[in-house]
Amino acid sequence: METVLESNKEYTLEGERLKIFTFPSPILKKKAKEVDVFDEELQELVKNMLYTMYLSPGIGLAAPQIGLSKRIFVIDTQYKRNKKINAEGNEEIEYSHFSPMVFINPVLETYGEIINWEEGCLSVPGVYEEVKRKEFVKVRYQDIHGKPQVIEAKELLSICIQHENDHLDGIIFIEKLSLIKRNLVTKKFLKKKKS
Ligand SMILES: [Zn+2]
Repeated sequence: METVLESNKEYTLEGERLKIFTFPSPILKKKAKEVDVFDEELQELVKNMLYTMYLSPGIGLAAPQIGLSKRIFVIDTQYKRNKKINAEGNEEIEYSHFSPMVFINPVLETYGEIINWEEGCLSVPGVYEEVKRKEFVKVRYQDIHGKPQVIEAKELLSICIQHENDHLDGIIFIEKLSLIKRNLVTKKFLKKKKS
């Protein structure tokens, strides 16, 4: 069976846009469960997660963010997104250079120097803060077919993998800030969310 992620097949932007749960939703605090069934339902879910990520737009999305407590996240740090005016004179978003990645049951090993990187999150919209992370990551995971895979990453991809993996353990990036900063950011975010 063909999937959206066969390496010899170009990715097509299609699916259903899912609701993204935002901080402080309780689902974001839960430790997610391992995936043990690799079926069509999982393929459909991944397709919809990617679609939701691209449209939001974001570069990563973890299953708890769409209300599902499972150890799955999707990432694309490569794609391009351009606004253009179509023939009817309406604004249109043009996507290119898709490079979707899917991580199921990931296990991370981080190493290298500690670096500061500015992060954002679809579950904490409008907040961008510098977070301390390790420079490199080695990830063992399963692909959409359940086949074991391993990759090593640096820079943006490394940061993104660490950020998304935290979601599977119920950790949001603002929890990694200093207590003072964290309280300030949280208060500001909740106030804005209410208004
Ligand atoms: Zn996030």
